[in-house]
Formats: sequence, structure tokens, C-alpha cells
Amino acid sequence: MSEFRSIRVHAVVLRHADWGEADRLVTLYTREQGKLRAVAKGARKITSRKAGHLEPFTHVKLQLARGRSLFIVTQADTVDAYLPLRETLLMTGTASYVVELLDRFVYEEEGANPTLFRLLAETLKRLANDEDPWLAVRYYEMRLLDFLGFRPQLFECANCGREIKAEDQFFSFSAGGVICPRCGRGLPNLTSITIDALKYLRHFQRSSYAESKRAQPALDVRDEVETLMQGYFTYLLERELNSPGFLKNIRGQNKSTS
Ligand SMILES: [Zn+2]
Repeated sequence: MSEFRSIRVHAVVLRHADWGEADRLVTLYTREQGKLRAVAKGARKITSRKAGHLEPFTHVKLQLARGRSLFIVTQADTVDAYLPLRETLLMTGTASYVVELLDRFVYEEEGANPTLFRLLAETLKRLANDEDPWLAVRYYEMRLLDFLGFRPQLFECANCGREIKAEDQFFSFSAGGVICPRCGRGLPNLTSITIDALKYLRHFQRSSYAESKRAQPALDVRDEVETLMQGYFTYLLERELNSPGFLKNIRGQNKSTS
């Protein structure tokens, strides 16, 4: 078998589904090829040596052979199973959210994005290492928005362009950023945002993870930031479903202007 027909990849398992009688279809985010799907033959048999390596949010090294329409997993080794993520429902749910966000924004034919792969693997590791999961997930969301071309505008009003002052503001999902109180009075479909929540969003946007970790937001601010970010992601994903080509266009524009 030539090298061309067989590849080695680092991958995070995004999800899996039953396939045929005893096989499993795994959706992977790979460092070398981006998102792809592969069949693990016999992975549902009790004796399968591959099955344990192919659970969701496991970091694996795989040998893949190119089949007629899908890749076939020929060898699987675990790099990190992130075992703590499987210990509580809360951790499993948090890891599922992280993996699902990427899964829903990224398409199979897009090709490799090693930075995105590293972000995913690092985020799972942070969660597994029992660091503040709230902070690890918010930092992940902010970086993901950067990479996807939806970096929110947090320093100037997304409507009039004026610098944002230290007071409570509005946020617009459709404009992708903060709206000043003056513009906010005349615009529909805005969410309010306190200056405290905005400070943390700015901090995550500008800082490394190590710097972000110094943030100690109060509980109500944590709730506010989380609700706002999830609202923004929900908005982006719904819009994506309405017009599947939209995200690709945005990313195309970003590539050509950067
Ligand atoms: Zn304004």
C-alpha cells in the first residue's frame, strides 16, 4: 500500500455513531486534515482493541487508509483520554459542549487548521486538569470566535464607531459587538451588558490563557458572560443553518484580507 493511500494523523474524536452490524463511524478533528469521518471496523465487538481509543473527546494517534468513500481506521493509539472528563456528568457535559461547538462550525472539506486543533486539545486538557472550567470554556469561546471570523467588537460601538465608555452598554448579536447607550435606544433586538461583564470579555479577548486565569469574576458576572456568549453562539449557528454558505464566505473574506 502506498503512502498516498494511508495517512497518520493526530485527532480528537468529536462523536461516533453505529455503522452497519459491528462497525462505528467516527467524526474526527485531525491536526493534519481538519475534520473527517472514518469507519472503525468491528469497533462495537467486545473484543475490539480499537473501541476504547475512539470514545468522544479522546486525543488519539491514528493510521487511516483511504477507502472508496470514507477513511478506514487501521490503527489507533491513545495520546490522552482526559479521564477526569468522564468522571462527572458536569465535566462530560462541559467537554461535549466544547467539542460540539467546533463540530458545528467546521466542515469536512475545509482542510487543516493546526491552530484550531491545538486550541481544542489544550482546552480539553485544561478541563481535565481541574482548572476553573468556566474560565477554560470562556477563553475557548473567545479564541474560537477569532478563528472563525466572528471576533466581537468590544472597544468601539458596533453601530456608530465611538469609543465605548466605562458604563453599562448593549450587545448586538447581528452587529457582532457592543452598542453604546446612545445608539442602543433606537435599535431593536439588543441584549444589555454590564460594564463588569464587558471588562472580562475584553480581558479574554486580549490576553493569553495564563493572563486570563488571573480573572476572578463574581458569580453574577460569570452568569452574565456565559449567557451572553451562548446567546451569540446560538445566533451564529442559527444563521449558519439558514444560509450554509455564509460562514464559508466570511472565512474566505478573512483569508483574503489578512
Ligand atoms: Zn454607538
